[in-house]
Amino acid sequence: MIENSELNVPQDLEKCIKFHGHLCPGLTYGYLVAKEAIRLLDIRRSEDEEIVAMPENDSCAVDALQVLLGTTAGKGNLLLKDYGKNVYTILDRASGRGFRFSRKISCRNDQQDKVLKSKSLLSRPFEEIFSTEEISASMPPYARISPSEPCAKCGELTMADKLRQGQDGKSMCIPCSDS
Ligand SMILES: [Zn+2]
Ligand SMILES: [Zn+2]
Repeated sequence: MIENSELNVPQDLEKCIKFHGHLCPGLTYGYLVAKEAIRLLDIRRSEDEEIVAMPENDSCAVDALQVLLGTTAGKGNLLLKDYGKNVYTILDRASGRGFRFSRKISCRNDQQDKVLKSKSLLSRPFEEIFSTEEISASMPPYARISPSEPCAKCGELTMADKLRQGQDGKSMCIPCSDS
């Protein structure tokens, strides 16, 4: 295990590594996208839902977006679309602007030279790694806040709009209605 201080990487990347657990090309892709989005949109870390990230994969990259952009799983401004595509869209609600970043190069995520590969990515120009496109996307709605009600079967509190109506007219949580 290499100490982060020995990695000699930028401080904001160190923060991402602390959160994610290791340095790898995936995390580095997310780091590069977040930095470029911050530069292009002139934004700061999202305290609430002002920035929205739509990664089209569930890879290591998503963790760097959470750390640097504040687009987190819990706030509802991380809209993960699990298409397995190396594409990331970042939107700023304040300006109504957004950018879509699509990765152009691939590298195998070998255990051996993860750190080396990550560092070589850091030394390359962003436009060599990603293509960038400004998009005019409509802003996704804010996260829904819905009251919780008990499931008719297990009794556990469940967000009302996630409850399913059974044939008997009773509302059940998803696991109960599936079983
Ligand atoms: Zn990783
Ligand atoms: Zn239930």
